[in-house]
Amino acid sequence: MVLILKNNPEVKKVDELLEKITEMGLKTQVVGGASHTIIGLIGDTSHLIPEDFLHYDIVDTVQRISESYKAANRKMHPDDTIIDIGGRKIGGGTFTVIAGPCSVESEEQMKEVAADVKASGASLLRGGAFKPRTSPYAFQGLHGEGIRLLLEAKKVTGLPIVTEIMDINTLDLFADVDVIQVGARNMQNFELLKALGHSDKPIFLKRGLANTMDELLMSAEYIMSGGNNNIVLCERGIRTFETKTRNTLDISAVPILKKLTHLPVFIDPSHAAGISWMVEPISKAAIAIGADGLMIEVHNNPKKALCDGAQSLNPEQFDTLMKDIKRRVEFEGKTLA
Ligand code: PEP
Ligand code: MN
Repeated sequence: MVLILKNNPEVKKVDELLEKITEMGLKTQVVGGASHTIIGLIGDTSHLIPEDFLHYDIVDTVQRISESYKAANRKMHPDDTIIDIGGRKIGGGTFTVIAGPCSVESEEQMKEVAADVKASGASLLRGGAFKPRTSPYAFQGLHGEGIRLLLEAKKVTGLPIVTEIMDINTLDLFADVDVIQVGARNMQNFELLKALGHSDKPIFLKRGLANTMDELLMSAEYIMSGGNNNIVLCERGIRTFETKTRNTLDISAVPILKKLTHLPVFIDPSHAAGISWMVEPISKAAIAIGADGLMIEVHNNPKKALCDGAQSLNPEQFDTLMKDIKRRVEFEGKTLA
């Protein structure tokens, strides 16, 4: 339920109202929008009568939020959420490119790729240290050493880093990581989501292979209900009967999610397609349809990559693509972060 307040409400009266709501056993989220202040009620509001709140003279209208996701709902927070990562913005008219290898493989590789993607204009560096692989015999990542190499690359380039967590017991290793990624396979690992709700790190939450948009929003809600509101959603392709691509990019997820939630929405063209030549056309589509950013896999030597080489761009391909991305982002009236 949201209470939309009249213009310029008295602070004392707002405080009284917030206290009353807290006494009802509910949490509140106050959002000061461009035109109105909104109080969001979080918790079980099913027994409440919306009209009762109209007795408070600062309340203009009361709206029930019928969707199960409340904190993530755009009705609760009409303006886009803007996330600040070391001075770099995500959301709200900024377009952000996260780039780097699928997995961190060596110091040399990370140094090279980080310098290259930075020179081309990426604003965050990615690299997996813990890799969710289909085969237990495939490269599983360098774990703590991988995070160390990412931090080294950050020191040299200044790029904030994004890396995936698979097990909450490793959270301590992420202390200096800028953005924690929750991969498609863990989108509904609810214990992990709950724990990340108590973290102060922005979370990059990828849609599961066979999950609906409502389920993705409920996963964001798990994190937000713990108090962490800095979440980026990412559509990375879903499982369908089609075999020409690794996954089927659900491009309609962008306008739908942008309508339903205030959280930024990214596209990952690399995992969607699984083939490097498709990264460019999908990236263009993502910009045109209103995505807030892209996550792109770039490897200094894709043929030798230990993971996802077929879908990785080499630095030259990425550089060419970034020039095009910049033009298109500006054409859309946005700024490249
Ligand atoms: C990744 O980003 O490398 C990854 C494993 O992605 P996803 O969870 O989308 O498969
Ligand atoms: Mn990958």
